[in-house]
Amino acid sequence: MARMLNRGTGGHGLGGLLANWGATERETALSAKYGVRIGPPPDRPNGHFSHSMLDRIDRVLADLPPEHLRGNPELTAIQPAAPGGDSAASVYDGTERAITMVNPFGMPSWLYTELNRSSGLQRWLMDKGALSDYEGISRAGDQALGLCHQTRQVMGGTSSVLAHGNLVKWTIRHEVGHSVDQRVGWQAQLKQQARFGGWQTYGPDGDFPLKQVATAILGKAGLGSQLEVKDRWRMPLLESVTAALNPRVARDVPERLADLIADFADQTDEFREHLDQVIRFVQLALVQPWTLNDGGGDALAIDGRVYHVDHFGQWVSYLRQERTDHALSNYQFSTPAEWFAEAYAAFYDPKPGPCARLNPQVRAWFESELPASLRPEVAAGTQQDASRQHEEN
Ligand SMILES: [Zn+2]
Repeated sequence: MARMLNRGTGGHGLGGLLANWGATERETALSAKYGVRIGPPPDRPNGHFSHSMLDRIDRVLADLPPEHLRGNPELTAIQPAAPGGDSAASVYDGTERAITMVNPFGMPSWLYTELNRSSGLQRWLMDKGALSDYEGISRAGDQALGLCHQTRQVMGGTSSVLAHGNLVKWTIRHEVGHSVDQRVGWQAQLKQQARFGGWQTYGPDGDFPLKQVATAILGKAGLGSQLEVKDRWRMPLLESVTAALNPRVARDVPERLADLIADFADQTDEFREHLDQVIRFVQLALVQPWTLNDGGGDALAIDGRVYHVDHFGQWVSYLRQERTDHALSNYQFSTPAEWFAEAYAAFYDPKPGPCARLNPQVRAWFESELPASLRPEVAAGTQQDASRQHEEN
C-alpha cells in the first residue's frame, strides 16, 4: 500500500514550500559537515528533505564515528525517495552506496518524523506493513501449521530493547550500519563467528551447499542412515529432499515437497512418518518463522542451530543461544545483514539498554576491533557483495 501512497518527502503545495524554506541550504551545509551528500541527487531539483527530517539526520550523524560517514566509500548519500518512487521502505542500496529515506504509508514528513517505536500501536502498524511484503505468510498457511496462536513481530518480539525512541533516528542508524558492514566486510568475513550469531548461508549464493541443509533435516527426522534410499524416479532420498527444499522450487511448485511421501510410497510407514517430519520442517522454515518470538523454536532447531529461509529466499542458520541471550529484535535474526544493522543501531543508541543487551564480545568488537579495521591501511580492499538491498520501514 505504501507504494501507491508514496508521495515523496517534501512539503506539498504553497504552504509546504514556505514551510520548507531554506531546506536546500541546510542540506548543503549538512553535506559539508558530514562528508556525505544529504539531499536529493543534483539532477533532481525537487523533493528536498523537510526541516524535521534534517533535524533528526543531524542529531543521529553527530553521534556516529566520523569515519563511518566522511571517508566511508560505501556511504555516498542520504537522500529522499524520488517523488512517485516505488520503494515502500527506507533502504540502503549497496550498489548505489546510498540510503534512501521513504516515508512509510506515504505519510507526510512531519508525521513520520514524530513516530515513536515505543508506541505499541505505531509499531504494530510498521510491522503490518513489513509483514505484508514477505513471501509465504498467510492466515491459511499459519492455520495449517498451527501458528495461529502466535503473534508475528518484526521490530520487537523476543526483545523490544530497540523498540524505543524516534523511528526515523533508528532507521538512519540502522541503514548507516548496512554501509559499515559493507565497508569492513563483516558478512563476507565475520558473520560465522559465534559471537556474531554464528551465521551460515546455503545454496548457490551461500557459504555451503543446499545439500547440507537437507542432511541436517533428514538427520533430525531420523533418516540420517537412509540417504541413499531411492524414490520412484530412482533419485536418492538426499537428492530428492535437496531438490524439494530449494526455496524457489518449494514456493513455485509446492507439490514437489508435499508429494515426497508419495514418491517414497514403497517404503515403510515409519519411513514415511519420518519423511512427513521433513516436509513439516521445510514448510515452517518457508513462512518467515523469524517473525515468531521463538524463531520457530524446537521445531527448527538442529544441534543448537535454527534453520529458516530468509526474506531474500535463501536458507540460513544461526546459533539459537545467541538469539535467546542477545537478540535485539525479531528482525535481527532474520538474515545476517539485519543482524549487523541492528547490532550497529544498538551499539550507537544513545540509551544504554540496547548496547547492554549485546554479547560482551560484540561490544568489544565495536569498541576496539572495528575502529582498528577502519584505519586507512587496514580498510583498503574490504568491499563485499553489493547485490542486495536492505529495506525497512
Ligand atoms: Zn536493514
